[in-house]
Amino acid sequence: PFSPEKVQKGSEFRIIQHMANFAQFNLSKEMVSALEKLGYKEPSPVQGKVIPKALRGDSILCQSETGSGKTHSYLIPILDRLDLNLPRLQAIVICPSRELARQVYDFAFALSKYFPKLKVRLFTSSEEKSENEQGLSIAPQLVIGTPGRLKDLLAEDYKLNLRGVKTLVLDEADMLMDMGYFEDIDALRSLLREDLQVMVFSATLEQGLKEKLRKYAGSDFLYEGEENKSSGNVSHHLIDIKHVGKNEALIRFLKIRQPYLALVFASKKEDVNSAYA
Ligand code: AMP
Repeated sequence: PFSPEKVQKGSEFRIIQHMANFAQFNLSKEMVSALEKLGYKEPSPVQGKVIPKALRGDSILCQSETGSGKTHSYLIPILDRLDLNLPRLQAIVICPSRELARQVYDFAFALSKYFPKLKVRLFTSSEEKSENEQGLSIAPQLVIGTPGRLKDLLAEDYKLNLRGVKTLVLDEADMLMDMGYFEDIDALRSLLREDLQVMVFSATLEQGLKEKLRKYAGSDFLYEGEENKSSGNVSHHLIDIKHVGKNEALIRFLKIRQPYLALVFASKKEDVNSAYA
C-alpha cells in the first residue's frame, strides 16, 4: 500500500514515499477519526499488512512482537466489522496472561469512547464474575480474556449465544502453546462456527509451531514479520558465562561496557528483583 510514486519537481524526477495513513484502508470515517483523536497518524508495518486482509474477513497467521502495533492490527478491523446495533457477542480475543488481556482491553476501551454502542468485557478471573454478570444483561460484542476463564464463562456459566461470533484472535499464540492452553482453545473453537475468521499472532513462527498454528488459521494469509527486527544501532554480544551466576555476569558486563543507559529484561518478576538487588 505504501508504493513510491514519481513526482515531478522542477525539472528533476524524485521518488517520494507516500505518507501512509489510516484513511487509505477501507475503514469507517468514525474509525479513522477515532484513530486520529488517539494520535495514531500512520499505520505501523504490521498494521499495513494485516488491516486490509482482516477487513475482508480473511484468517491470518502473523509473526509480530509487542511494540509492533499488533494489538491494533486486529482491534481496528474487528471493531470496524462489528454490528454495533446488535447486542450479541461477535468477536473473542484470547491472551495467555491476565496482564496482556488487561492491556488489550484497555486499548479496546480507549477506542470504545468513540463508539458509544460498543460493549467490551474483560474475562480473566473469578473476581470479575459478579461484575460481568450484571454487565452481561446486555451481551458484549467483544470479549477479551484468558483461555480457561473464557471457556468457562462463555460456554458454561453464562451460556452466551456464540453463533454470532465471526472472529477469534489468539494473541501471543506461542505463549498460549507453551503454557498448554490449547485444550481450552480447542474446546472453545469447537463451539464456534466453521467459517470463523481466526487471527493468530505469535512472536516466533519456527517451522513446527507454524504448522501447529495453521490448524487454527489455515493458510489464508501468512505474514512473517520484518527480516531485520532490531535497529541497526543495537550491537549484540554473546557472552559465555560458564559457571558464573547470571547476575554477577550482568554486573561485570555493565562495569566493563559502561553503557550510558541500559534496559535489562528478564522473563520472571523474581529475576527482575534479584537482578535489581
Ligand atoms: P503493541 O505492539 O500492540 O503492544 O502496541 C505498542 C504500542 O504502540 C501501544 O502503546 C499502542 O498504543 C501504540 N500504537 C499502536 N499502533 C500505533 C500507531 N499506528 N501509531 C502510534 N502508536 C501506535
